[in-house]
Amino acid sequence: MERIKADDAFQPFQLTTNSRPNVDGFDIVKFSDYANGAQLDNRIATATGEGKPYHEMPSRGWCGRGLGWECLIDYYGNWNLCCNDWRCEEAVGSIMAEPFEELYQRWKTKARTIRWDTEESYRALPRMCRACLDVNPSLHKTGGV
Ligand code: SF4
Repeated sequence: MERIKADDAFQPFQLTTNSRPNVDGFDIVKFSDYANGAQLDNRIATATGEGKPYHEMPSRGWCGRGLGWECLIDYYGNWNLCCNDWRCEEAVGSIMAEPFEELYQRWKTKARTIRWDTEESYRALPRMCRACLDVNPSLHKTGGV
C-alpha cells in the first residue's frame, strides 16, 4: 500500500474478507458472509468447470470486468489476475518474493489477453475465465476485440 501511495497518494484501498478483521488503512471493507450463504458474484462456482464450448459463446468478446482499474493482492501477497482469482490459479507472483514493478507489468500484460475472436483463442483462455464467463455472463462483452 505504501508503494502504491508513493505513485498516487489518493489511491483508495478496499479489503474484501470473510472474517471481521481489525485492520487500518482501508477506505472500504467488504464482508463476504460465506458462513450464512452470502457470496460475491458466482465466484465459488468457478472453482470447477471448463466453461461453455465455443459454439455456445459469442464468436468474439472480452472480459468486461474492467481489468486494469483495480489490482488484487491477497492476504499472502499473491497478485491475482482479478477478484475472482481467489485460488491463485492465474496469479502472476507474490509481492513478498518479487519486485512490485515486475509483477505489475506481468499482470498488465496478462490481463490484456482475456479476450477471444476465434475458437482457438477462446480455448486458450484460462480455465478460470471460461468458467467465470459461463456463470457470470454479464461480465463479458461481445464485439470487436
Ligand atoms: S473472465 Fe477471467 S479475468 Fe474476467 S472476471 Fe472472470 S475470472 Fe476474472
